[in-house]
Amino acid sequence: MTAAHAGGCRCGAVRFEASAEPHHISYCHCGDCRRASGAPVSAFVGFLVDQVAFTGKALKMYENGPVTRSFCGVCGSPIAYVDERLEDVIYFTLGAMDMPGDFRPTLHAYVSEQLPFLHMSDDLPRHLKTSVKRPDGTVP
Ligand SMILES: [Zn+2]
Ligand SMILES: [Zn+2]
Repeated sequence: MTAAHAGGCRCGAVRFEASAEPHHISYCHCGDCRRASGAPVSAFVGFLVDQVAFTGKALKMYENGPVTRSFCGVCGSPIAYVDERLEDVIYFTLGAMDMPGDFRPTLHAYVSEQLPFLHMSDDLPRHLKTSVKRPDGTVP
């Protein structure tokens, strides 16, 4: 596979490659991402699942309802999440990308849960909840 984009965890035990351009780049202010990342805001880079390949055996999963988050079982770095209602896509944490500066977010999601002291002065669209419709109409 010739990688267009690559990434991995802090220790290098988990590596991944995407062979195409991402279809989605966003900030997420939801409380679930906050707990999972420890950071006041998260950012994600979405690729089609069949354009992504993992190497290494250290990837661990944590399932919470329809959302499964993955992380490195050695160093604990958050890697990605998948949503069973969006079966064709995977969202990598922007910070796991080798070239994070290449992935400029295009929107904010879940600003209804944004921390009151966090101010981000951009003109990007702001969604109160999810920015990606689930087929059953629910939100994560
Ligand atoms: Zn690691
Ligand atoms: Zn979130």
